Amino acid sequence: MSSATPITVAHGDGIGPEIMSATLQILKEAGARLDIHTIEIGEKQYLKGNLAGIEPGAFESLRQTKVFLKAPITTPQGGGFKSLNVTTRKAFGLYANIRPCLSYDPYIRTKHPKMDVVIVRENEEDLYAGIEHRQTIDVMQCLKLITRPGTEKIVRYAFEYARAYGRKKVTCFSKDNIMKLTDGLFHKIFDEISAEYPDIENEHWIVDIGAAKLADTPEVFDVVVMPNLYGDILSDVAAQIAGSVGLAGSANIGDGCAMFEAIHGSAPRRAGQNLANPSGLFLGAVQMLVHIGQADIAELAHNAWLKTIEDGVHTYDIFKEGISKEKVGTKEFAAAVVARVGQKPEFLKAVNYSNAPKRPLTTRPPHVRSSEKKEYVGADVFIAWLGKTNDLAAKLQPLAGDGMELEMLSNRGMKVWPGGMEETFLVDVFRCRFATPENSGKTTTQKATIALFGRIADAGLEIVKHEGLFTFDGKPGFSKGQGQ
Ligand code: NAD
Repeated sequence: MSSATPITVAHGDGIGPEIMSATLQILKEAGARLDIHTIEIGEKQYLKGNLAGIEPGAFESLRQTKVFLKAPITTPQGGGFKSLNVTTRKAFGLYANIRPCLSYDPYIRTKHPKMDVVIVRENEEDLYAGIEHRQTIDVMQCLKLITRPGTEKIVRYAFEYARAYGRKKVTCFSKDNIMKLTDGLFHKIFDEISAEYPDIENEHWIVDIGAAKLADTPEVFDVVVMPNLYGDILSDVAAQIAGSVGLAGSANIGDGCAMFEAIHGSAPRRAGQNLANPSGLFLGAVQMLVHIGQADIAELAHNAWLKTIEDGVHTYDIFKEGISKEKVGTKEFAAAVVARVGQKPEFLKAVNYSNAPKRPLTTRPPHVRSSEKKEYVGADVFIAWLGKTNDLAAKLQPLAGDGMELEMLSNRGMKVWPGGMEETFLVDVFRCRFATPENSGKTTTQKATIALFGRIADAGLEIVKHEGLFTFDGKPGFSKGQGQ
């Protein structure tokens, strides 16, 4: 027998400690070889003034064990507290969030008896980069970041996962009909990488209709990869329609470390009453066992759990009169699973992890940065303004120069000058595009823009933000105004 694998464990808040002890008990009785390092996270740490929600030094334990089994925590209400999940995912580069959502028909009630979907959610970028600003009285802004290296990693992970687990199809969800550059890049990279996996079917859906289809006919999907926000929302939807959010576990995988958890929260109202369903955290822990190379134990424990579900031994959240046989608490549920170690389900599909990859999927070809020619062609200057649009344009036009002209003003993305419509609703920030006219042969520089800023400030106007405008091999790296 190989030696115990060191893992870091946090018992969390609310129902966390109860579902963690149930989970650890099942793992131990199934024969898991674990050397457990316990750390404190969550409410107690937040209230002690650790705004990150984790005790000082605890990240050192994670750095050493590289495997984190985490119970849900309660994030106190009010400002200043950082999400521990987002911090851990980003600090350790846990770029892939894997959420299997499977129905257990007819033992757990669902409208989708054939559902077996794995959501692969990008975990570090998108609107979760956390770059937000208040620009004016009217306007808040959150930056959506999609990068080529980040997208290549997650899309490749989805295809490698599909191949490793015998899945047939990978679907991409994006909104590239609207966000042509950000979601457009996600879709483009999906097309590029899918060509390297001819053995796996691929398809793309616009996220809105894709989400509707997922909620209506989830059985047509297999592995679905998507940017962070869509993945956050749709993995909860998928887990809920499969049977219950209380049943879904999740793995957060990086090149070095990995974190395993339930997808639900700390359900404080259920805490301390021996009521909670430990299955979400347990199924996260099963993914952990496969990850650390104890696939044999993962299989034993998971099959015992399936048999327990099949035998109708259910916690309150999945208990249904007529389907379930016995309503049990957290401890009794764990004991029922332990009693079935060594058994397999008779009607549900038993799991077989004999071919599952150990610490899977962390190798990939190095990212090659493209050599497109990047040229500076001007700037979008965001200016606070409460007056008439034409008056702002009249103030700005004479300030242009050094190859740049005032090309357009937009408000909330909609072009309002030149032209524009009286009906368009305006807020107090205008995007003012100063650029070299297309095909004019004129050039400009960043230094010219800095001089332009000076002239704008001297005119008594307030710049709240600026973005450089670049072309790449002559193609614009910026969107046009709506209506432009
Ligand atoms: P929640 O997921 O904790 O609970 C919502 C409801 O779902 C509960 O009231 C309960 O009825 C049910 N439920 C959830 N898990 C269950 C389980 N294992 N067994 C039985 N029933 C279960 O969501 P919430 O109430 O919105 O959030 C509570 C706290 O959890 C908040 O402080 C939130 O910030 C935190 N949270 C933490 C995580 C995490 O640590 N990963 C994730 C989400 C929410």
